[in-house]
Amino acid sequence: MEARHGSSGQAVARAPRHAARSRRAGAVPQRVMRVTVLGSGDAFGAGGRFHSAYLTQVEGATFLLDCGPSILQSAKRVGWDLGKLDAVLVTHLHGDHFGGIPFLFMEYRYETPRTRPLLIYGPEGTEQRVKCLFTALYERTAAEPLPFPVVYHEVEPGQTVPLGDASVTAIRVHHVPELMAFGYRVEVGGRTFLYSGDTAWTDDLAEYARGVDLFVCECSTFETQLDIHVSYPEIAARARELGCRRLVLSHLGSEPLRRIGELSLECARDGMTLDL
Ligand SMILES: [Zn+2]
Ligand SMILES: [Zn+2]
Repeated sequence: MEARHGSSGQAVARAPRHAARSRRAGAVPQRVMRVTVLGSGDAFGAGGRFHSAYLTQVEGATFLLDCGPSILQSAKRVGWDLGKLDAVLVTHLHGDHFGGIPFLFMEYRYETPRTRPLLIYGPEGTEQRVKCLFTALYERTAAEPLPFPVVYHEVEPGQTVPLGDASVTAIRVHHVPELMAFGYRVEVGGRTFLYSGDTAWTDDLAEYARGVDLFVCECSTFETQLDIHVSYPEIAARARELGCRRLVLSHLGSEPLRRIGELSLECARDGMTLDL
C-alpha cells in the first residue's frame, strides 16, 4: 500500500493522475480487470507449462476461462484461494480445456469445503461430458451428492452472460469440426479482453480482436500450418493491423517455444498477471 498519512482520504483524491496510474500494489484504482495466466501450455504440456486456465477477476466476480487438468497445481503455485471462484467458462470440450473441473470438485469436496454454487458455462454437451469425466476419474465420489450445487449453463454462440461487473460473450471460433468451440469476449468498464480459446486463424477472429485492450491468442505451432490452430507467422503477419492495445500469445506449443528467443510478439508465462 502506498504511504498516505492523515485521518481522511482526501490526500488520495489529490493524487496526480500519473501517480494513480502507478503499478505499485494498491495504487491502481483504474484497473477494472485482472487476468492471471494460470496455464499457458498446450495439450502436451510443452515446455513444462500448465494446461489452459485464465483466472479473471472483476468487481463482483471471479471466474476461470478454461480449466485444464493442471488447475489445482497452477492455482496453488500462485497462491490463489480456490474458494473465491464463482464460475468456470469452458471454450470447448478438449481435455486440456475442461479436464480440471472434476479436480475442482474434489478440492471443494475434501480440501476447501464449499457450500455455495459453482457455475459452469460451456457449449452444448458440457454437463454430460463433465459428469462422465468425474465418474471416470473418481467413481464413488461422483456417485454421491456434492455438498454444493453445480449449476450448468450451456450457451449458444453470441450469447452474453453477466458475471459481476463484466459481460462475457461466447464467440464462435473454428477449431475441430466435431466440436463447437468458443472464444470469450469479456467487457467491463469500457475495456475489453478477448480470449481466443483454440482456433484456426480466421477473418472473423481478426474482426473480434480488432482494437481490443487485451487479446490473448493461442499460438500452438510455428512452422507447421494447421487448420485447427494458429501458427506464429499467421498472427505475426497481422498483429499490427489488429490494433490491440496488448497482444499476448498463449497455448504455446513446442515449435514456438523452441524459437521463443526470436519471437517479437509477447508470450504468456504461467503465473503472469495482465491488468486492464
Ligand atoms: Zn488446447
Ligand atoms: Zn482444442
